[in-house]
Amino acid sequence: MLHLMDDINKIKGIGPKLAETYHKYDINTVYDLLMNYPIRYDKYEEISSFKDIKEGTTAIIYPKKISRPTMIQGKKMQVVLFHVMEDDIEIELCFFRMPFIAKILKQNAGYLLRGKVTRLKNGKLRMDQPALIKMPDYLENRGKLLPIYRSFKGIGNSTIMKGVMQAREALIELTDPMPLEIKAEYSLPELSDCIKEMHFPKTEESLLTYRKRLVFDEFFFFMLNIRLLKKKSIEVINRNPFIDNAYTYRLIEQLPYKLTNAQNKVFEEITADLTGNHYMNRLIQGDVGSGKTIIAILAMLLCVTNQKQAAFMAPTEVLARQHFSLIKSMTEQYKLPFTPCLLTGSLSAKEKTKAYEMILSGDTNVVIGTHALIQEGVQFADLGLVITDEQHRFGVNQRGELMAKGNMVHTLTMSATPIPRTLALMLYGDLDMSVMNELPAMRKPIKNCVVNESYRKKINEFIVKTVKEGGQVYVICPLVEDSELLDAEDVETYTERLREELPEEIRIEYLHGKMKQKEKNAIMQRFSDAVTDVLISTTVIEVGINVPNATLMIVENADRFGLSTLHQLRGRVGRSDKQSFCIFVDSKESEKSKERLNVLLNSNDGFFIAEEDLRLRGPGELLGVRQSGGLEFEMADIYSDAEILKNASDCVSLVLKSEIRLEADELQRITKYIEKRYEKLII
Ligand code: ADP
Ligand code: MG
Repeated sequence: MLHLMDDINKIKGIGPKLAETYHKYDINTVYDLLMNYPIRYDKYEEISSFKDIKEGTTAIIYPKKISRPTMIQGKKMQVVLFHVMEDDIEIELCFFRMPFIAKILKQNAGYLLRGKVTRLKNGKLRMDQPALIKMPDYLENRGKLLPIYRSFKGIGNSTIMKGVMQAREALIELTDPMPLEIKAEYSLPELSDCIKEMHFPKTEESLLTYRKRLVFDEFFFFMLNIRLLKKKSIEVINRNPFIDNAYTYRLIEQLPYKLTNAQNKVFEEITADLTGNHYMNRLIQGDVGSGKTIIAILAMLLCVTNQKQAAFMAPTEVLARQHFSLIKSMTEQYKLPFTPCLLTGSLSAKEKTKAYEMILSGDTNVVIGTHALIQEGVQFADLGLVITDEQHRFGVNQRGELMAKGNMVHTLTMSATPIPRTLALMLYGDLDMSVMNELPAMRKPIKNCVVNESYRKKINEFIVKTVKEGGQVYVICPLVEDSELLDAEDVETYTERLREELPEEIRIEYLHGKMKQKEKNAIMQRFSDAVTDVLISTTVIEVGINVPNATLMIVENADRFGLSTLHQLRGRVGRSDKQSFCIFVDSKESEKSKERLNVLLNSNDGFFIAEEDLRLRGPGELLGVRQSGGLEFEMADIYSDAEILKNASDCVSLVLKSEIRLEADELQRITKYIEKRYEKLII
């Protein structure tokens, strides 16, 4: 009998080696494995006869005979080709980097082949990198929804599936954190049933029903947490409000630009908070590029001139470094009373100890950092203000933890993900919210276009042209690595292809969230230093990074991303006075995807785009790739799950008004659950 907290190696078939690989991905216990939900589902097609195959779609074929292999040595990789024929129609099967396939397929061991079929310039049909499926497997799984997991290097999808099948038995032990009364009121199914269904759904409808419960949970606990935090801060009177002074006004006058009206208004709101009788608990929602950083710096200036320390948290190391060097140079240039200190995970133990000492002694009054900031050991002399940049990357609890460090502190959270007003009111209802919906008017607007996949060659030429002219390029793909079952571009294959197709002097690198932090930092740094010309990445680059020299962005499979995410991504270019371009590749070309992408062509207003995203995305409609820009939710999507959000919000209100009464132990269980939920958030 397996237990939830058993080490993963207790599962049959998971030996020490496999367990170690799982550990690398932070999956240590049986429970962790169960919490690793599929990122999507797949369903096998019917077997196609060659004459019915439509190009551009994924098909399964079952050829009677397969030709001998042809091996081709490409510039950088080996290609193996086979040919299959039916009714006078020939299809070429093309495998990259898989020389061993020649041995496997040669005998024609009764495999079905599954892949996307395209038409080559010479009119031939071709299936790239088809997956091999054995007939018994096909017969068993046909018609079912098959879970596709986030891929781990060294662990195949079917291995994960087998592990999960066993792990399910431990679910008997699971305690459901949701109080009975709420479950009854909102007809929520049992948590353990939901988890089972997520991994092995019976039907599409049942999957949606059970998923609803998990989404409800995410919203419910998130909002409950925020509102409880707020309640706490309202109850406490601040007996030492900051005193307004001239430092901030002087800096505003010295800046090389005039603050926008929105910036002025927001800074006034912040000043009123900091000099008032309660602790600030404010959220700034600002569009990308609306100039939030300077607002943070002004708030910190007011803090340190009141002899308190300020902490500035960024979601990534690169961003923290960027903020740190900006603050350092501004300190010198404007003679600001800052003594800044950087604290990130990659500092050496010695450097960290030194930073801790300076923070504790008060030798530093502005600490800029990443998560390392809130790790144990960091004690502040006198913390007065905590600012979190790009908050959607953080768990709420991490903020709470930091707040706990200096008895009560002012908190300011800055989000670059504008969301529709109605949703914001529900999610953050009790937080004071400032909106920065105005961009500094100085930059050339980005030129946008939407193209289909046939434009690849032109896109390549555009990349070359941009680099030749001294610019840099981002390419965004939805996937990290090749997925045999999903028609979407992946970072690794794309990189290989571009390296093959572009002139050699163009330096190409790739980046994704599964890399080690150190490696990611080094790659971002090289791009930032213009050592690399083209950066191919998943949405991990979305967050606040500033490389003004990058003037071209290409987003592959743009139809798979939410509009707000795309708007965020686009914000990485257009950061200098050079003309920037953003190309969205629409691989679907449906009416719907066209309408959605058109919104981006016609508007650069993040708030408007968010409203349109809400309007155009129906309930239960998922775009196929889990969104990373979607606040802190793992599964929930505020747009397509807006209705569930409303229910959960009502429920939280009822709980807080004690119209739904919870026992003390129920509340405690909820608190524990919230901690668990948010502690493992990864970027
Ligand atoms: P975000 O809100 O996306 O974090 P930043 O704070 O990084 O945006 O600001 C983007 C750029 O705009 C920075 O280079 C900053 O110096 C500049 N900036 C900020 N405010 C103004 C302004 N009022 N006028 C002109 N440029 C500004
Ligand atoms: Mg920013």
